[in-house]
Amino acid sequence: MKFSPKIKEKRWNPELEKKIRKMRDKEKTYAFNTKTKRKIFTIDTPPPYPSGRPWHIGAAAHYSQIDMIARTARMMGFEVFFPIGIDRNGLPVEVYTEKKYGISLHETPREKFIELCTHALDDLEAEMIQIMKMMGLSGDFDNYYRTDSKEYRTLTQTTFIELWNKGLIYEDTRPNNYCIECGTTIADAEIEYEELPTELIYIKFKLKETEKDIIIATTRPELLCSCAAIIYNPNDKRYRGLEGKHAIVPIFGREVPILAHPYAKEEFGSGIVMICSYGDYSDVRLFRELKLKEIIAITPEGKMGKNASKYEGLTIEDAKKKIIEDLDKAGLIQKREKIMHRTPLCYRSKTPIEIIPMKEYYLKQLDFIPQLLKIAKKMEFFPDRHRQILLDWINSLSIDWPISRRRYYGTEIPIWYCKDCGKACLPKPGKYYQPWKDKPPFKKCPYCKSDKGFEGETRTFDTWMDSSISPLFISRYQKDNDFFKKTFPSGIRPQAKDIIRTWLHYTILRCYQLTKKPAFERAWIMGYGVDEEGKRMSKSKGNVVDPIPILEKYGGDIFRFWNAAEAGLGSDFRYSHDRIEGSAKFLTKLWNISRFISMFPEPKKAELTITDKWILSELNALIKKSIKGYENFDFFIPANTIREFTWNLFAPHYIEMIKSRAYGEGFNQKEQEAAWYTLHSTLKTLLQFFAPIAPYITDYVWRELYGKKSIHKQLFPKPEWKFNLNKLTDEIMGFNAKIWKDKKDKGLSLKTEIRMKIPKKLKPFEKDLKKMHSIR
Ligand SMILES: [Zn+2]
Ligand SMILES: [Zn+2]
Repeated sequence: MKFSPKIKEKRWNPELEKKIRKMRDKEKTYAFNTKTKRKIFTIDTPPPYPSGRPWHIGAAAHYSQIDMIARTARMMGFEVFFPIGIDRNGLPVEVYTEKKYGISLHETPREKFIELCTHALDDLEAEMIQIMKMMGLSGDFDNYYRTDSKEYRTLTQTTFIELWNKGLIYEDTRPNNYCIECGTTIADAEIEYEELPTELIYIKFKLKETEKDIIIATTRPELLCSCAAIIYNPNDKRYRGLEGKHAIVPIFGREVPILAHPYAKEEFGSGIVMICSYGDYSDVRLFRELKLKEIIAITPEGKMGKNASKYEGLTIEDAKKKIIEDLDKAGLIQKREKIMHRTPLCYRSKTPIEIIPMKEYYLKQLDFIPQLLKIAKKMEFFPDRHRQILLDWINSLSIDWPISRRRYYGTEIPIWYCKDCGKACLPKPGKYYQPWKDKPPFKKCPYCKSDKGFEGETRTFDTWMDSSISPLFISRYQKDNDFFKKTFPSGIRPQAKDIIRTWLHYTILRCYQLTKKPAFERAWIMGYGVDEEGKRMSKSKGNVVDPIPILEKYGGDIFRFWNAAEAGLGSDFRYSHDRIEGSAKFLTKLWNISRFISMFPEPKKAELTITDKWILSELNALIKKSIKGYENFDFFIPANTIREFTWNLFAPHYIEMIKSRAYGEGFNQKEQEAAWYTLHSTLKTLLQFFAPIAPYITDYVWRELYGKKSIHKQLFPKPEWKFNLNKLTDEIMGFNAKIWKDKKDKGLSLKTEIRMKIPKKLKPFEKDLKKMHSIR
């Protein structure tokens, strides 16, 4: 009998992936069937943010793993609803547009600016979709959604009106985080902290009651004009007797009270600090607690305001320099000290946050803390340890969520104000409103019945107001009740670790407020992709790796297998070119094995020999381990188990042991067929378990050898080989390795005949072993 491989292509190459993609489009392999009898599994896919080029390789890896979740669920028997979306609202897009066209938002007409944002977005979006397709994502590309579409924004506004009617939204003027660079109030969740170098300035204050001076230490001397009190720690023996006295603020000459308060730390600076409106959140708290009157130092434009008198109009930095200079001239500086200071930065522009009182809309969240904690404790987390990040965040909440933003590219707040009574009038839900340019949808004020007209709101929503209803949008909330019932709550929310306190938290909050249900049953949290030195990739560091050249050279499967085998569940993972090369080698190996096996017919059944039973025992172990990994959506486990088995056991030991038998050299037909049967059984199982990780190569081989239908229509096989011969594995591997080494040491070829006694334990394998090593 002559054998030639059924798989004709000699090598696996990414060009073959295109063939599979075409078939997928033709067959609609992954179409979601709403009439299914299976349990529906909805994936609340994170709509990625096109904020510039290149798209982060870590983000691409993230999406390839989200696709593994979808494929895993399908092969576990779920009907999977896997929408694809693009998040197009908000600041990063505006910042990118400003840079790309060299313009500034506040100096560009609103309509024009929005148009430019849309253009910038379209290019970036096309590239992201291309990357997702190259990676083999099995989501619904025919109906992908955009968060800046009319439909999406309608739902954001509709749900806002619902929450307004439930009394969960209010407007208030209170000091809040304000980013001067972005020109808007931002939420606590959008702040990140960094240790930055700064100077601690020791300033002399005169006392009103005595001739003595006191020394206060501050990092923000430019806030002197807004100082309202001086505090020291009640336990600080150095300052006993200061209580009740007054200090005179240098330069400004104002009298302020001196108070004992535990917030002052004896070991920080001189132990005496000034309370200003506002240096940080502790200042806000102390102003409230001590009932101090606020004196605002800084304007929303980032300049000194009129309270700064002769410093008015200077930037914060310039005012700081000038004040230090003036204090120094007057001999009022005792010393200057370089320190590291934990500084709050805007999550988007990476510039320091100021605290400025502004009138904003707030969504209540503090009242919901007990319910949020309950949901967070009940939801399943993958990995479980990341639940704590959410719990800690919920427990740390101290203010409601400011949801209004002074930006353009976002969903408009649907409110008109009556020109007569000033009351906020909300339109009917279900339509998209742009109050900054649309005519008001009412003739008379519903409150005072005046017909003097209305003023449209100009602000937009915080972009998380849009993102936090993604599970509602994909499930057609308020649009298609039948569909909604089937697909909500989502089965899983896959997302990155750094947006737990924003996207995860806000989604749970909003969906609970609207539906009284948890938004999803499970949360799957992925770590960060870091560079070869272990540093987080970021555009500012310039160490972002572009995934496109890698995908073009290696294809989707090699890229996917690389990150599956590299990223432990929830842990950070390193980008490494060598490891991607390593993945390519493994796929070549798998291809070669498949071609070898494709030479032989697949018998329906066989009388297995002990060698066959032994490898099937090991295959059984692989099945159990892989299933366990997939049940935890931990692709690291199956990826490495499959590699280990294929590379170190199946190919070098089993295939070498049965090669002669498979060719029929010195064996009878039954024995030969048993080898064929085992080869095919093993390959089929390997392909099925490898399919969620490497969807192209597995489908290609599957269609060549095992069926017209895609492998992605298969279910995971169950463990069925109960021979329990795994205990012989070490013995077999040891024996083979010893002979290979002996021959190599003696300079003999592997085919050279030798004399050798088969160890007692391996006697049953004698026939295969003798052939394998040419033992006489
Ligand atoms: Zn900012
Ligand atoms: Zn009115």
